[in-house]
Amino acid sequence: MIILNDNKQAYYQLKKYILDGNFSKIFILCDDNTKKDCLPLLVDKLTISDFKSICIEIEHGEQNKNIKTCEKIWKKLLQNGCDRKSLMINLGGGVVTDIGGFAASVYKRGIRFINIPTTLLAMVDASIGGKTGVDFNDLKNMIGTFCSPEMTFIDIRFLKTLDTFELKSGFAEMLKHGLIQNKKHWEELIHYGYNSINYTLLKDSINIKNRIIENDPYESEERKLLNFGHSIGHGIEAYSLKYDNPSLSHGESIAAGMIMESYLSMKMNLLYLEEFQMIEQNVKKYFGITNLSPPSFNKIVEFINNDKKNRNNNFYFVLLTKIGNAKYDVKIELNMIFDSLKYYSNLKSFS
Ligand code: NAD
Repeated sequence: MIILNDNKQAYYQLKKYILDGNFSKIFILCDDNTKKDCLPLLVDKLTISDFKSICIEIEHGEQNKNIKTCEKIWKKLLQNGCDRKSLMINLGGGVVTDIGGFAASVYKRGIRFINIPTTLLAMVDASIGGKTGVDFNDLKNMIGTFCSPEMTFIDIRFLKTLDTFELKSGFAEMLKHGLIQNKKHWEELIHYGYNSINYTLLKDSINIKNRIIENDPYESEERKLLNFGHSIGHGIEAYSLKYDNPSLSHGESIAAGMIMESYLSMKMNLLYLEEFQMIEQNVKKYFGITNLSPPSFNKIVEFINNDKKNRNNNFYFVLLTKIGNAKYDVKIELNMIFDSLKYYSNLKSFS
């Protein structure tokens, strides 16, 4: 169940869920930032003291999305008498909803949890779809479960304290939703921009992801569409995390990935040149062009090759057939990937 706080009933519904659940204990998982910026708002709206909640705080950041942090969470749950009738509320960005969902899904073989996402990326992406997990051995999301929260509750006011860098990460995912499924959504997003996100835009984006994951929860077919921009984007992100300081944000990497994968769509005669140019121009408007130099190409391709979806230099990408439609499992030759990297890196000289 996904509830948006776009009507007077929303917090009432959340409160009712908590009261009717008869939970033995309620745990709220936060990171240091969401404890400071978001918990007071939630407590104020819920008068959560009535529910005798216990706050568990973790340190913010992807570097803490690991088993060690899970152990800390499980210890706190045990020390505070968490049993199978307890509830965990994950209040935070994708790191908190991923790790909290995972910790809850295996603690005593699973306790109930809900997500209250506080970043744009978590609202439109991470907190829905039932993927939970932690990083392991330098590999992202290696350990995890498919386990859906009983509720995802979205209050746009949490975004007030979020910085632009983080807003743009979520915005890149919203653009992706428009490009793969809904031209109107894409057009509205590029019209409003990341500083004017409203409930209608949130709802449209969430509906696109939700519909896809309902059709294909375990990513055997249609869910693969959600990887548009991410095959090359993740390669660039992984490269940048290892070799750049400061490294690129998730949003910048996915934006670059979307331009390159749209370029490949055009080169494969799937997407009209005019639509490709429209995508390039608008993604560039919001994200600029990232510096990629030819000496990095081999390493980036190595990272792309290590992706779970590609193996032994066989690359399968999601490509666009038009704005608002895409197809998955399109086989791409290695030289085409190099061509797209070269094309993109040349854009920098003209920007
Ligand atoms: P994040 O959770 O690290 O949050 C980004 C930063 O913003 C953190 O420093 C956090 O403390 C801070 N923050 C959060 N909410 C805030 C607020 N309202 N005000 C001020 N600061 C706030 O990052 P993210 O981008 O939300 O999520 C990234 C994670 O999501 C990655 O680990 C990724 O793997 C995961 N993810 C999961 C899925 C999925 O389907 N499960 C999908 C996409 C991404």
